[in-house]
Formats: sequence, C-alpha cells, structure tokens
Amino acid sequence: MPIAQQIARMVEAATMIKTMFEEGARLKAAHGAQNVFDFSLGNPDVPPPPQFKQVLKDLIDDASVNHGYTPTPGLTSVRQAVADYLSTEYGTALSQESIVMTVGASGALNDVFKTLLNPGEQILVPAPYFVGYNNYAVMAGAVLKSVPTTADFHLDPAAIEAAITEKTRLLLINSPNNPTGAVYSKSELDELGAVLERTSARFGRRIYLVSDEPYRKIVYEAEVPSVFQAYPHTIVVNSYSKELSLAGERIGYLAIHPEAEDAGLIAGASGFVNSMLCVNAPALMQQAVARLQGVTVDVSIYRRRRDMLCKGLADAGYEFSVPQGAFYLFPKSPLADDMAFVNLLKEELILAVPGVGFGAPGYFRLSYAVPDATISGSFKGFRRALEKV
Ligand code: PLP
Repeated sequence: MPIAQQIARMVEAATMIKTMFEEGARLKAAHGAQNVFDFSLGNPDVPPPPQFKQVLKDLIDDASVNHGYTPTPGLTSVRQAVADYLSTEYGTALSQESIVMTVGASGALNDVFKTLLNPGEQILVPAPYFVGYNNYAVMAGAVLKSVPTTADFHLDPAAIEAAITEKTRLLLINSPNNPTGAVYSKSELDELGAVLERTSARFGRRIYLVSDEPYRKIVYEAEVPSVFQAYPHTIVVNSYSKELSLAGERIGYLAIHPEAEDAGLIAGASGFVNSMLCVNAPALMQQAVARLQGVTVDVSIYRRRRDMLCKGLADAGYEFSVPQGAFYLFPKSPLADDMAFVNLLKEELILAVPGVGFGAPGYFRLSYAVPDATISGSFKGFRRALEKV
C-alpha cells in the first residue's frame, strides 16, 4: 500500500467520524436540514465580534501591513501585544520571547509535542479528552496515555500521581473542557502543580504541564484560574477559533512561562518546529488579532443555549453535569453502549457523538454551537429515544 502504516491506521480510526458526517448529510438531504438536529460539530456559529470586521477594514487601508513571510514565531509586535495581554490575564510578566504565533491551538499542540517528546515518551491526559490529541501524539511519535477523572469530570490528583512514570514527559489538560464543559478550580490546579513538582523530583526530570485553553473565554458561572500561578513549568496553548469565532482563519499561539525550566530553549525550538510545520502563522490574522486582545464573542448566546438544552434534557430524564464552560454537554448514555444509543438518537434525526471517541464510553457529546431552533426542536426526539431504551 502506498500509504504509510501509521497514517493508514489513523485514517481507519477517523472513518467513524467521516461516516457520521456522511450519514448526517444524507439525513439532511432526505428530510430537509431544518428537520435534522445536528449537535455533532464543534464549529462556532456565533458571529465574530463586530470589531473584527472593522479591524480587517483598517488593515486593508493600512499601507504598512505585512503580507510577506513573518519571522517563524510570528511578528514581534504581534507577539508583544499577546504577551502584554497575557501578563495581566495570567498575573505573570511575559515578553514577546515567550510567545509563538501558531496555526490555531492544534498547530500549537503539534509544535509543543514535537518539541518536547522523544519517540515512545508519554503524554498523560485526563479522560474524557479532545479527539485530536491522539493524532497529534502519533505525529510526534509519542504515546497518549489517559487517566480517569472524578464522577463530575474533575481532576483526580491521586490517580494522576499514580499514572506518571519515568516515560511521562508532559501532562496535558484542557479547561474549559471539550467534551465535558468542566472548568478546573484554582485549588485543583494548585494540587496538580504539587503533584507535578513531586513526580518531577521523584523521576529526576522535569514534567511539563501543557494547558490547552481555546474555550478560556467561554465560561458561565466560573472563571478560569491562571495555570501559570499553579505551576511555572507550564506552556499555555490557545487560539482565536472559539473566543473570536475565527475557527477557519487558523490563528492561535503558545505561551511559555518565563520561569519554566529551559524556557528559552523551548521557545526557540518550538518556533523552529512551527516553521517546519507551517512556515509561519497567517500574517494578516496575526496583525488582526494583535488589535483584538481582550475582545470576545457574545458568550450570553452560548449561555442561553446551554440553559435551554440542560432544562430540556433534564425534563426528559437525562443525567449530566451542568457544563461551566465551552459549548458542549456530555450526558450519560442511557444504554451502556453509547454507539447504540447514538444510533437510536439518529432514528429521531438527532446527531450526537459517542463518548467512546473521547476515551469515555457510556456517554455522548452534544455541541450547542447550534441555532436555538435546533435545541428546542430536538426535545421530543430525545424523549422518544429514552422511551425506546
Ligand atoms: N483543543 C480543543 C480542546 C479543541 O476542542 C479544539 C477544536 O475544537 C482544538 C484544540 C483545536 O482548535 P484550533 O481551531 O484552535 O486548532
């Protein structure tokens, strides 16, 4: 076969998602898109803030805009703007040297994994976790190993401590979480920091924390604490895909705590890896987001949808933890076999993603980055599916 074995395996694993997409498209063609309740995609549908269009217009008229290659870690002025904003946001003084502009959070994760991991080394991740992590780990030749969370999807420090071995190079967390909507508290992060200090000392090498935060600004009752305050050997990964609804524009960054062990080496090497993977992050978008630091989509839209969905599903008899952030709900599957239940939902023209894809069988994920009408129109189907069980 002309395809590399590891890619062939990954393509095979992605078939489930592809089949789901195709099935969704088939149902929409057969029944009309308005009669299919598609909760399967994490693609933000809330419009970007109005300031975004204004910034684009300003950039068009600005003769000094750079459309050429940028330095591999990004334009210095852009990195400085991001560093200035993050210094206040995280309570840690950062300079442009700590920042690499990337092709979204996924570009940043690929940079970090390739920078830090030798073949066979492990990334430890609390489950449930974002499906992309497995692929990024494989691309870096590393191994993704999961560790369970508590019943309400929060960190279990004792389980994490027990799962760390001499092969663990980094712990990867994601808060607010896709798929659960959990937001980790300051005390949880502090406890995690203590575990990572202890285990780094035990194994005689630094274990880094990588904090994937693309939903940082999409929170409801919670605030996302500064992970830099909990553990200095931390790299924050972020993007503007969700907080500015710019998922297709592919712009994000990584930020390295200036006191992380070998921070300068990591910053230099991840800038270099970034150039191998994408040359540089899109120049126009770098210059746009530099002018939009602290601007966020209208989160009240997601909050309204979360409240609608939670009420409707609770009334119908579903069990779940109320998400504090992101735009996903992760209910318990009424059948142990979450694939089978997702198929029952499909009979009701409701599209959901089985938990098994997130390392959490027995659950299913609903994205509420969908119109209100999709949510309100779905409840009868959710009730009927539960009755069938
Ligand atoms: N991390 C998580 C948890 C995500 O949910 C996503 C996308 O859905 C990404 C990373 C990748 O996002 P980006 O568009 O910034 O590459």
